[in-house]
Amino acid sequence: MASSDGKLELRTLGNTGLKLSCVGFGASPLGNVFGPVSQDDADASVREAFRLGINFFDTSPYYGGTLSEKVLGKALKALGVPRNEYIVSTKCGRYAEGFDFSAERVTKSVDESLARLQLDYVDILQCHDIEFGSLDQIPALQKLKEAGKIRFIGITGLPLDIFTYVLDRVPPGAVDVILSYCHYSINDSTLDDLMPYLKSKGIGVISASPLAMGLLTESGPPEWHPASAELKSACQAAAAFCKEKGKNISKLAMQYSLSNKDISSVLVGMNSVRQVEENAAAAVELANAGKDEDTLLEVEAILKPRSYGDNWNKKNLD
Ligand code: NAD
Repeated sequence: MASSDGKLELRTLGNTGLKLSCVGFGASPLGNVFGPVSQDDADASVREAFRLGINFFDTSPYYGGTLSEKVLGKALKALGVPRNEYIVSTKCGRYAEGFDFSAERVTKSVDESLARLQLDYVDILQCHDIEFGSLDQIPALQKLKEAGKIRFIGITGLPLDIFTYVLDRVPPGAVDVILSYCHYSINDSTLDDLMPYLKSKGIGVISASPLAMGLLTESGPPEWHPASAELKSACQAAAAFCKEKGKNISKLAMQYSLSNKDISSVLVGMNSVRQVEENAAAAVELANAGKDEDTLLEVEAILKPRSYGDNWNKKNLD
């Protein structure tokens, strides 16, 4: 997962032509979603990420009630590199106050996001959790594209069938990218079933939450995590098993996701230089030495019968 210059591998995002680093920087932690993060730590994390070849940064007005966008905007500004050297995605339709996918709100939302991010355009604007929205805003997003405020349009969501539902109903080319989360990590790899369909449509694939939103970490998930008690304890057992073997569950989980080359970027939430370094190193080590197949098999055996699907609330588009 590293190129000859030692930087992280870049992968093309569907038909967009964008080349995303295989490890992407998820900025929800910069909205204090997983605990407090200072602007200094955010600046240092973003700087280190860019130095190691991470060129893709994802945020949303929803994360920390707009805080993540503001903190990421300052950190990118402090980085001081030309705008075309990094790729930024943000979202619309989901806010601290609730969901609003109306064309009017979405159009206003982009201007607000650009101001907070201190940018003239974002590379990708995604409808945030489209299963709670409608398809009505897609024409408004096309207008934003024509106005040069966004380059590409994406949709994000938890239930995988939401992607086929939307993509089967919008005109070809109306949606460029999907962001799926928690469906390509060690205990749930069901995103893979959708790959032939997505490829046939030239849709770029971003897979978020390789650590299952903190489940696949030694310190465990945050309070609000929606997984069942059963899945939480299985992940805890898997993390303890790895630790005993002298391995790290997060590294194993990153390498598992990164191994799937149909995923253009594995979007992991990071809040410290240390996490950035560990996750970039996981990619470099994978490129040089391959996956730790033995440990992976053992951890899969601990996690296998448990997926999120049955436990999490799902809502489908009407
Ligand atoms: P994740 O699986 O990436 O886990 C993040 C958690 O793991 C944080 O607590 C982080 O501090 C910790 N972590 C990161 N690297 C670590 C390491 N090496 N060792 C130990 N702990 C480590 O979950 P996430 O942050 O929710 O997802 C990643 C990103 O994807 C988000 O920040 C967001 O940008 C995006 N996302 C989008 C949606 C959506 O659009 N609906 C949903 C989920 C995630």
